[in-house]
Parts: sequence; C-alpha cells; structure tokens
Amino acid sequence: MLHSPFALFALFALFLACCAASVLSPTARAQAAPEPQLQTRDAATQQASAAAASFDQVVDRAVEREHFFMAQMKQLHPLVETYLQNLKEDKELGAPAPSSDVYFLGRLDMSEGTDDRTFTSPTTAGLGKRMLSKLSNVYSMKFLPLGFAQMVVLDQDFQRRFYDFTFVRREFLGEVRCVVMDVAPKKDSGKGRFLGRIWIEDQDYNIVRFNGTYYPHPRASYYLHFDSWRQNLRPGIWLPALIYSEESDLKYRLGQTLHYKAQTRLWGYNLKDLRRNSEFTEITVDAPQAVQDQSQKAQDATPIEAQRAWERQAEINVLDRLQQIGLIAPEGEIDKVLQTVVNNMMVTNNLDIQPEVKCRVLLTTPLESFTIGHTIVVSRGMIDVLPDEASLAMILTHELAHIALGHHLNTKLAFNDRMFFPDERTFERMDFARDRGEEEAADKRAIELLSNSPYKDKLSNAGLFLKAVQARAPQLKNLIRAHLGDSLLNGNATRMSSLMTASPQFDPKKADQLAALPLGGRVKVDPWNNQLELIKTKPVAITTAAEKMPFEVTPFFPFLTRLGTAIPEKAVPAAEKTAAAPTGQ
Ligand SMILES: [Zn+2]
Repeated sequence: MLHSPFALFALFALFLACCAASVLSPTARAQAAPEPQLQTRDAATQQASAAAASFDQVVDRAVEREHFFMAQMKQLHPLVETYLQNLKEDKELGAPAPSSDVYFLGRLDMSEGTDDRTFTSPTTAGLGKRMLSKLSNVYSMKFLPLGFAQMVVLDQDFQRRFYDFTFVRREFLGEVRCVVMDVAPKKDSGKGRFLGRIWIEDQDYNIVRFNGTYYPHPRASYYLHFDSWRQNLRPGIWLPALIYSEESDLKYRLGQTLHYKAQTRLWGYNLKDLRRNSEFTEITVDAPQAVQDQSQKAQDATPIEAQRAWERQAEINVLDRLQQIGLIAPEGEIDKVLQTVVNNMMVTNNLDIQPEVKCRVLLTTPLESFTIGHTIVVSRGMIDVLPDEASLAMILTHELAHIALGHHLNTKLAFNDRMFFPDERTFERMDFARDRGEEEAADKRAIELLSNSPYKDKLSNAGLFLKAVQARAPQLKNLIRAHLGDSLLNGNATRMSSLMTASPQFDPKKADQLAALPLGGRVKVDPWNNQLELIKTKPVAITTAAEKMPFEVTPFFPFLTRLGTAIPEKAVPAAEKTAAAPTGQ
C-alpha cells in the first residue's frame, strides 16, 4: 500500500528518530539456540560486590573481574572490524581530512593469548602497509590476533603489584555510575603495561572503559592510543564493543609522522546455528501462492513454479549462511523501514513482483548494496552516510531494478552442500557483483522508476551524494568499494550518474551542504545478537564545515546501560552526570 505523501516526507524523520524498542522481542529471545556458556558472576563477586566500599577494595575487585573477563574472552569469537583513515591537514578546511584508508574484518580468537599489541615501525608505506603485510588478503576472514583487536585487552595479566592507582572521581557513562581512576605501571613491571584511565562500574566492578596506551614500548616499535568501550551484553558481563584509536603526531622512523583515526567494532558474540536443515522439504511451500484448490495442491510444481522455487532456495541458503556467520543482521525494524521505501517505489510504478521483495542489512562498514534473489542487501555503512530518504530510495531502486529486470542469482547456491565452507572463505565463494551490461540496464530502469515516484523532485541530494562519493573515492578506496556486490563506482562510471547533472556542486567547505554523513550515526548494533536499532538522537546542528566529516570516522561515545535496567535511576542529581557526553555513537 502506498503511504501518503506526508508519510513519505516523514519517513526519513522516522529513519532518524524511530524508536525500535521491540527489536528484542520475547519471541526472538525464545528462539535463541544454546548460547555460549558464560558464568555471569563468580561466587566471590556476589559476596563482595555489595561491600566494596574503599578505594582499595574497588581496585581488588576490578583486578579480579579483569581476570574473569580474560577467561571469558577465550571462549568467545566475535567478528572484529577495523576501519582506519590516514589524515592530512586540509589547509582550506582548516582541519585534517582523510588521505587514504585501510579496512579489515576478522574473527577474534584469544584462546591462545594476544601477544601482538605493538605497532612496529613500518619500513616504507606506513601503517596500512604494515597491517597488509600481516594479512594475505585484507578482506579474507582471517583468524586474528592482530593489531587493533588487541585493544580489547587492558593487560593480559592485570595485577595490582604492577601498577599505581589514583582515584580521579565518580562519573556517569550513560546511566552507569563509574569509579574513575588513573592507572600507571610501576617501574620495572615489564613492557606493554597499560597507562591511562579506567572506568569501573560500581555494581560488579567490571572495567567498562579504558583510555590510554601501553607502556613502555620496546625499541623500534610503538603502541597506539585508544579508547576502548565495553557493553553489558549478558547479566554481569561486559564485553568489548567499540574502540576508537587516533594518533596525530606519532613520530617514527626517519621523521615520518603517523596521523590517523580508526574505529574498531566487535559483534557476533552469540551467533546462532540457524538449524534450517530441512530445506528440500520446504521447496514446494515457496512456490508462487496463487489461490489454489485442493486438487492443485496435490500436484507437482509446474516447470515455471519449480524454477522460481529453485531460485528461492538459493536465496534462502545464501541469506542463512550470511546471517549464520554474522555478516547479515537478523530480520528487524530497519529492514521494515527500507521495505517501506521499496514498497512505495513498487506501488507508484505498478510493479507486482513475486515472491515479495525484502530488505536486509549487511553489518559491515564499506558502502555497498546488492541483491540476493528478491532480497535487497544494504550495508550498515551505506545507511549511515546517506544524507536523506531520497538518497536511500536511489540506492534501493537501483537494486529493485535488478529484480524487476529479472537479473538472476546464480542458482548453483541452491545445492545445500555448496554452503558448507568455512566462514573465512565466504568472500571467495559468494559474489553478487553484476556485469557492466546489467548495471547499466539497472541504472536506466531505476531512473524511470524514480521519475514516477514521490521522490522525483527530491533527488538533487541523491545526485550530490554521488558527487561526494566520486570526489572522495581516490582517498577512501577501501570504504567506497564493494566486497560482495557492486560498488557505487565502476571504473570511471558512477552508479545512477544521470542524477548528478541536476544536483549542485559538491562543496566540502560549505557548512550547510550535507552531501554525506559521518559513519556510525544511524545504525546501532547489539554486539551480542546482531540485532539493529535506529539511533534515536536528533541531528546536531553543524556550525563549521569541518564538522560535516562526510564518510569519516569519529570517536565513540555510547550511552552505557545495564542489561535489564532501561530506566535510569531517578535519585541521581543531574550535576553528577557526565556533562560532555556527545550524542550518537
Ligand atoms: Zn547493480
């Protein structure tokens, strides 16, 4: 059904402000497969947590909890994604701007310890080269320990005797009250100890944030600075979720300076086995559902029905697999927002596509979209950076055009055995990229669809977004590229390029021109179950062009909450709350 023009206009506000409280529905919980066996609180904690009154007791509890944390992490294998932007001062903008970027995705494995915390001085090409040299292929799923992933660990052997602790203050991070203390390694306590500030929540005394570096560093190698956040993902358990790292003047070999900022995200702590073993028995269930009487039901699928069911089979297999390994989020609220836009396009264009077109979200940062059968997949990073609903419609319509034109999924994936490969090989086995001919046909058809749609007069921002993509692509090669599907850029060609002619000049120095947003502003991931939520904060008014930060990474400032305590304590005086917590992530 078509939504009224008002509803359409309001949709993007919904996109920004929608409350997705029902994401964690009881039914979703009930279906959960067995979870990793984690003890929530050891006996000593339960006894002591109520009573840790003195500063010394807090330190002792925190040290003990950190050892417990290390033991837990050995059993867990979340995905770890790091996206790094090297920076260079942009004189015109009066601020640093990205000059190149690095991306990697892997699965954390701490079962054999994490020894590699150093950034050793690179010989020629900077940090990117160094990281590349440790991975044969940046995007192949490697089982780490590696570089940025180490920043989940404060100290592998956190002991009171290695450190001096100084009380700083009590402070709220979100709704969680913390004891803040500075931590410095004692002399001769060994290399690579933590130096910086820690936040300890005052219920179970878990460290929930630590900000600093490792110290002292070995000769000829360096430790990076980082701000590492944990979230309360199981009762009593805080796990690494977000890490921001930045260096602005780290001098290394031959007077070179390291200047970068990077976000590391962890998710997929509790990947479910989807247990969809009976695919072939479902095959006729998915046949097109015209009104069927009893006699028809008892018959075999017609050849066309069988072909469609076969394609559907491949689609389900692939989606299941991608969800199972933590790359696609479970179905949820954001899918519905995307589907509303797709539905509006279909209604205004009298498109009737069976089976129904659905949308899903790829959990990764690089900007990409593609189709798997009748499912449109859009990456989290793409949703983050799109400036408005019409731009979102542009992305979705290109994919809808592929479906409307009948561009097929390779049905070799309908054979279930083809899904039995280890997850690090996913990107070799799955490739949804289209050839140039199909891309051009989809662009052409998408423009037609958009010109019949309620978005037809609002596409100048979409064109502007494409101009921004084009302008930043040389510096942001690893963000503006596709890993599973098609990039917004195909050689010199930009997707939907005819939209650019009617759009204004891309001007990074104009404060009120929002061509593309920073990463991380819209989609929030629950690192435990991969459920998504739209971030509810209102957009912050931008005062200078340097604050626009199109496609850029920023520090994290999550609003920490305790599991099962959605309502903040009312008794807390406002003055005690953190004054400077920025909005968004
Ligand atoms: Zn395409």
